[in-house]
Formats: sequence, structure tokens, C-alpha cells
Amino acid sequence: MRKPISLSAMMIAVFLFAGCVRVSELPTKTEPDPGEVTPETVETTEIAETSQIVETTQVVETTEITDALGACEPVTIGEWYPLFDDESFYEWKPSESQTTWSVVDGALVSNGPRSHLFYNGPIVLHDFKNFELKLQFKLEGQSNSGLFFHTKFSDAASPPQGYEVQINSSPKETRKTGSLFGVRGIYVDFVPDGQWADLWLKVTGNRIQVKINDVLLADYVQPDNPPRTRSGRVLSSGTFALQAHDPETKAAYRNIQVKILADDATDDGDTSYIPDPDPEFAKQIDEFGSRNVPLIDYHIHLRGGMTVEKAVIAQAKTGVQSGVLENSGAGWPLSDNEKIRAFIEAAEPFPVFIGMQVNDRDWFTAIDPELIALFDYILGDTMIMVDENGKAQKLWAEDEYSTDDLDAWLERYFQHCMTVANEPITIMANPTWLPPRVADHYDAFWNDDRMTQLIDAAVKNNVAFEIQVGSPFPNDKFIELAKSKGAKFTIGRNNTTADDKHDMLPSFEKMRKHELGADNMLLITPKLRD
Ligand SMILES: [Zn+2]
Repeated sequence: MRKPISLSAMMIAVFLFAGCVRVSELPTKTEPDPGEVTPETVETTEIAETSQIVETTQVVETTEITDALGACEPVTIGEWYPLFDDESFYEWKPSESQTTWSVVDGALVSNGPRSHLFYNGPIVLHDFKNFELKLQFKLEGQSNSGLFFHTKFSDAASPPQGYEVQINSSPKETRKTGSLFGVRGIYVDFVPDGQWADLWLKVTGNRIQVKINDVLLADYVQPDNPPRTRSGRVLSSGTFALQAHDPETKAAYRNIQVKILADDATDDGDTSYIPDPDPEFAKQIDEFGSRNVPLIDYHIHLRGGMTVEKAVIAQAKTGVQSGVLENSGAGWPLSDNEKIRAFIEAAEPFPVFIGMQVNDRDWFTAIDPELIALFDYILGDTMIMVDENGKAQKLWAEDEYSTDDLDAWLERYFQHCMTVANEPITIMANPTWLPPRVADHYDAFWNDDRMTQLIDAAVKNNVAFEIQVGSPFPNDKFIELAKSKGAKFTIGRNNTTADDKHDMLPSFEKMRKHELGADNMLLITPKLRD
């Protein structure tokens, strides 16, 4: 089934055996190097540790590996090779349950207890370093699957070595298809159930890129000494494995192909519109990722040249998932139901959260409720207040209103803040904001009693507080009080253009200072819109 070797391929034999040489230099079974864990010593250990019945199976497969070792299949760098012949398991080796995987209609299909299916064939003796891999996958129902790379055969519940690209449709798992498990989270599932989808994975040096259906989900540069809860989750070299996490998982894989890249290949795929993140920023993202703290910027405006496509690139690049939104109401981009519908439809095909920022105080009756229900979230703030005569006042525009009767105005403003906290919003941006004109009164105004009232209303209504990059609101005291009362938090950039403020370090600093973890950060369940 394999592609025949062409004359031109034979002529660059020097490159042909690059992968084979790296593996064949490992110690042989008869002369093991006690300090080295080779693929074969791993096999031997597994035999010793498993039961008699399994042992027999393992011995047979070890013989196959030896055969494969003797017949390292030459490959040409830069050409595609199939890793699965559409018919047999010969080159694949399951861990744990030996009956979970089968070949159905030219695809490797899981249906049974937990098992990982490792590529064990002759292509570079299943020890891949730099490569491109493409395959098609299909999930049915509540499936938890994944593609491991730079891994080694293991009967462990989860292979301890290498990375996993999450392939998942189970609601029990928040990290969806395209996540780099334990490193980068994608929380929006945009792959339709029961349909074949394309996965593309490229590793060059310390860069990992993942595309699903041609959409970039990760463009990750592994920093030096990356923070990890699992020490083996680092780049090295190794094989691929397909995951069947549990019996509910019905995953199918086909058209699995690999393209070997030279060991010293440098990245040529960085075509993003923003540069690689600062290493310090990257490390902090990794640290949050290792603790499964969802990092989601729910405040990305599609203005100033920002597009959904750029928001997708930004999340792949920075590791902070994107929530895109625009302002609604008269005079704003989403000024009527038609514009709202068009906004949702434009963002829907992409793996991003879709939100709406509301400004008018009658938004939830003015906008078609069926449209409101399509949004993943609604973000509101207190910067537009309705006066006694029903006129909307932009509180940042100081000529629009008077605070001559200061006490009366402040009391009315507080009632306005409580009104917003009781609207059906998901996130309150800039909580405890005060207009610059009355900023001197901040500490007296936002006393414990008023803070407590606002927090209690938000907690009761499931409204989270945004910690916005560049905003002094909310302050440390409010965050501590809100955290103690079980409030949820979000982070956000509130960008004005496509290029500003990709650096979210100020929000991260507040998250770390107040020890906001996975339990404190708002993770929205995205809407199923079709
Ligand atoms: Zn905004």
C-alpha cells in the first residue's frame, strides 16, 4: 500500500535514512544500556509487569517490532507517507484493552474499554522528531479521544510521555477538540458530531502548530523549562497514539499520513499577524494551562481592523481563548436585529465565544429574545445611566449631566449599578467604576456595604466581574470580597484596534495576586446554535 520509492528518492539516500539512523543507534535488546529507555526496553518492562495472557500477546508483537527494526523503511524528507494501510493493525499496537480498536470501512475505530493505539511501524522506526501529520477523524456521541505525539508505547492509563491534541465531543470535558491537553485549552467545540474533520499537526523544533478543518487552533512555542504537572509533556521525539478514553468514546481515524521534516528543520509556518508572545508571558500561560485554569478574553471588539479570523489567530498564538463581541443599541454597531443576526452568523463557523455588549437599559426587551438566546454571553457595564426623565446619559461625557447635587447623584448612580447587576447579563465590566468627575469620592462611595450589595446581587444572578487589562476597576479589596463570596471573574482586553494590547500580563498579575484558579474563573458553556 505504501508509495514506491522513486529514483529521485533513492538519489538523496543521505537524507533517506536520517530517521532510521537516529533509532538504530539505540542499544539493541541483547546489549541494553541500563541508563537508556529504548522502545525495546519499554516493551521488556511491560512484559514483566503484565499478566501471563497479555505477555503472550506482547511477545508476538515484540517480534514484529524486531522485524520492523530490521526493515527500517526508507523515507524521503518532505514526502507524505501513510501510517495506516486502511486494512490491518500490523503497524499499530494497542495498550490495555486489546479489543477496543478495530478496522471498519478503512478506518481505525474505537469501541470498548480504555486503550491507546500506538503507531509501531517502520516509518523512521516510529520515532518522529520534526514532521507534519494529517488525518481525518470522526466522533460520535460523547467521545473523549485524542492524538498523542512524541510519545512511547505505554500501558499506563494515559501515556506519560509526549503531548496530546485533544479530540473531544464529551460534555464532561471542558477542553475541546484542538486543545493541547494540559497546556492550551480550547473551550468551544466547533467540529460537528458524526462528520469527518481534518486534523493537521506540525512540529518543528520547539514549535507546535495544530489546525482543525484548516483553522489554526494552536501555534505554540514551548518555552525553556516549561511549567508542567506532568514532566513528560515536553517535546522530544517519539511515535503517535490514538486515544480511546472510555467505552463511551466512538472515535474513527482514517487517511493518516506523515511527512518527515529534517531534524534541523526550522519553522516556516509562522504567518501570524502578531509576533510570538514574550517568553515570560508564554510561561505564565503555560502555568495556568498546567492547572487547567481557563484563560478566556471575553472582551474582544471587532473594531479597528479586528476580525474573527484575527481573534482565532490571536488565541492560537497567545493561548488565551477569544470571545468576540460588539456593542448593541442605537448608534452602535449592532443597532438592530438584522445586524445582530449577521454578527452571530459571521462568527459562528469559528472556535470562539460569541457575545454582545449592551449599553441601553432596555436591551433585553428591545432586542429579539430569540437572538439574545443565541449569544454565549452578554457583557454590560455601568457607563450609560438613564436619568429621571428616561434620557440615556453617557457618564464619560461630562457635558451630558450634572452632579451638582452630589449625594443625590451618587445614590442614583448606585441604584443604577444595582439595576445593571440585576439585568440578565453574564459579565459586568469595570465593576465599581466611577466617572472621573467624582473619582475623588471613590473610597467613601464604594464602602463595604455598597460593595457587598453589588457582589451579592451579582452572585445571585450568576454575573461575573471582569478584570480588564489597563483598568483599575475592580480594585484589590473588591476582588478579595467578591472571591470570598463565591463570585466568578473574567479577564478582558477591551481592544480598540486589531493590534493593541495582546499582552494580558496585568490581568494575569491580579489573578495570581488573588489566587484566582479554575474555580474562580467563569467558564461559559457555549450555545449549540444549529
Ligand atoms: Zn467593550
